[in-house]
Amino acid sequence: MKLKILGCSGGIGKGLKTTTFKVDDSMIIDPGTGMEKLTLEEMLSVRTILITHAHLDHIIGLPLMLATIFDQARHQIQIYALPDVISALNTHIFNWTVWPDYTQLPEDKPIIRMHSLQAGDELTLAGKHIQVLPAAHPTPTVGYLLSDQNSSFAFTGDTGVNPQLWPLLNEKKPQLVIIDVSFTDDQGELAQLSGHLTPSQLAQELTHFEHHAEIRITHLKPGNEDMIVARCHELLPEWTLDRLHHDEIIEL
Ligand SMILES: [Zn+2]
Ligand SMILES: [Zn+2]
Repeated sequence: MKLKILGCSGGIGKGLKTTTFKVDDSMIIDPGTGMEKLTLEEMLSVRTILITHAHLDHIIGLPLMLATIFDQARHQIQIYALPDVISALNTHIFNWTVWPDYTQLPEDKPIIRMHSLQAGDELTLAGKHIQVLPAAHPTPTVGYLLSDQNSSFAFTGDTGVNPQLWPLLNEKKPQLVIIDVSFTDDQGELAQLSGHLTPSQLAQELTHFEHHAEIRITHLKPGNEDMIVARCHELLPEWTLDRLHHDEIIEL
């Protein structure tokens, strides 16, 4: 699998985009502001979108992309998300006020089709096995574990302390785990309220992980990136760990 990091920041600003990952050529996990990095041709190639949750930084690229490709779209895009997330998109985005209702356009075959899933579900899409992972965040959220014959990786979605996750990852043994560490240790209260991890909490979480996968951290708040990464290295010297970088391609 080829994973392209289009966005991995907890905010925006020059050079920073919010969560958007492209898997091979036709699948997106979380259409955040990183969707801006795609060419028109690349947008037209998207067939499957997995969404972790309805927070704006993870979905804002979707309505904008649909308007961009609408008159040239070659196929219907299949969108997978929790029922609460689909409901939030329908109520708050595709409501004819904020944006046209692309679930009804064009009438004969709408450009998108929504499919609901739940944590624990397993599905096969575009030749990949997908397991839906539990997450701990203030709004209904999941993560995803993707695997094919040769490789696998897990993305936690936005999450705070998540005890349900580790037994699953111990069993599945992904090669790579992308995990949310948004805040510094000094911002522990804010992290707890907003459902994200700090470096110290990551270190605590990883005591439950028996499989030494490569760890990549994501969703770092702008301005604090170096401090978060340095503290993670200090606390977890035995782990292969780095932050994600914009535009990097991870070959699995
Ligand atoms: Zn969130
Ligand atoms: Zn987020």
